[in-house]
Amino acid sequence: MTGQSLTQTLETPTASRRGQILEGMRRGLIGRCPNCGQGKLYRAYLKVTPCQACGHDNTQYHADDAGPYFTILLVGHIVIGPMLFMPFIWRAPTALVIGTTLPTIAVLTLLLLPRVKGAIIGLHWALNCKGDPSGEAF
Ligand SMILES: [Zn+2]
Repeated sequence: MTGQSLTQTLETPTASRRGQILEGMRRGLIGRCPNCGQGKLYRAYLKVTPCQACGHDNTQYHADDAGPYFTILLVGHIVIGPMLFMPFIWRAPTALVIGTTLPTIAVLTLLLLPRVKGAIIGLHWALNCKGDPSGEAF
């Protein structure tokens, strides 16, 4: 890599590039193909499929563990974080706290996971970050 190409690589993204990144993430967030925004991203709960509308192969973008990682991060901040600042929760009956908290965490996790994974796939699409065709991890 020459010095000039390294400089070009490190430049901040242009407004159109940022727009493409945000658009790809937005489309993935709502479960649509990041390439066209029309076709579905998933054929099952988390199973990525090639786009039925434009034919783009969305399976080439590997979100790997980023989806669960950011989902856990979000759910932790949304549910667990506020609990630490509410002392009445720690005085409530254990069965009540567990009975309300665990279903909340489960539902929130199941709702957020495909959206977060879709946003990551949209980001990979915008950055043209394709996974290894052999499927091997680094
Ligand atoms: Zn498409």
